[in-house]
Amino acid sequence: MTDKYAVIGNPISHSKSPLIHEAFAKQTNQDISYERILAPLDGFELTVRDLIASGYKGANVTVPFKFEAYKICDSLSARVISSGSGAVNTLINIHGKIHGDNTDGVGLRNDIEKNLKFLIADKNILILGAGGAAYGVLNSLIGAKSITIANRTSEKALQLVMSISDVNEARAKMFEELDAPYDLIINATSTGLTDTALPIPNIIFSKDCLAYDMMYGRETPFMKQARENGALVADGLGMLVEQAAEAFYLWCGVRPETQSVIQQIRNLA
Ligand code: NDP
Repeated sequence: MTDKYAVIGNPISHSKSPLIHEAFAKQTNQDISYERILAPLDGFELTVRDLIASGYKGANVTVPFKFEAYKICDSLSARVISSGSGAVNTLINIHGKIHGDNTDGVGLRNDIEKNLKFLIADKNILILGAGGAAYGVLNSLIGAKSITIANRTSEKALQLVMSISDVNEARAKMFEELDAPYDLIINATSTGLTDTALPIPNIIFSKDCLAYDMMYGRETPFMKQARENGALVADGLGMLVEQAAEAFYLWCGVRPETQSVIQQIRNLA
């Protein structure tokens, strides 16, 4: 019998997740269906309960429901609990109970280390943004030499810094206070969606720096600035596929190969 899965968000029509999971299923011979579901902004929980009642085995959760998803779970994975992020992007139906996990962090780390061959250990890392995505990936940066968080709203950056452990140095700064180069800069703001440039100085980029934008599909102002200042530049498509691969593994128990799927999705753009 076909196992049913879905991605829930609002908006959702742009989501590439069905294409990714279709490719994983074909590659690993899994009999699954995977669809996009638009939940009303005030109707996320009801949507999930309906899916569970209809026998769906699991779902991915995207903007703006990751924090709400956390709240409706009956149980949570160790990495969600230890991250303190309060955000869930993967739901698993275990005999009618909802188990929540977050695969964004492992998705980011796998893309940066496995696909882009850039090792995180001992690096000075700058994270731009302190929203759900920044929270979700922080625990995947264990082993970094230092983590600096810069955000438009400084209190949120400070709060995020307080949740960091296992890293020698962690600090919060305003964009305008950034005055030195970093090894890895991750844009976890949503400014790419509106083509807004961040007030960050060119000095933070160098030729050995990897500038990673979680947004995908086109060059953002952040990526343009990084490229013009000699940095290596990557978008978040690899992260999208890697976080999906981890969710697929949680649901189906098999790990799909990701490189060919990243290429396949990139070719569609
Ligand atoms: P949130 O809405 O939770 O957070 C948005 C962040 O962007 C906040 O830090 C906010 O700052 C900042 N921001 C928004 N507008 C501006 C602006 N004009 N100037 C400066 N900062 C601004 O979003 P998420 O964290 O969930 O998502 C962030 C991005 O990451 C999105 O583009 C999303 O698509 C992407 N993403 C990609 C994934 C992937 O797999 N590739 C996975 C998850 C997310 P403030 O706190 O001051 O409001």
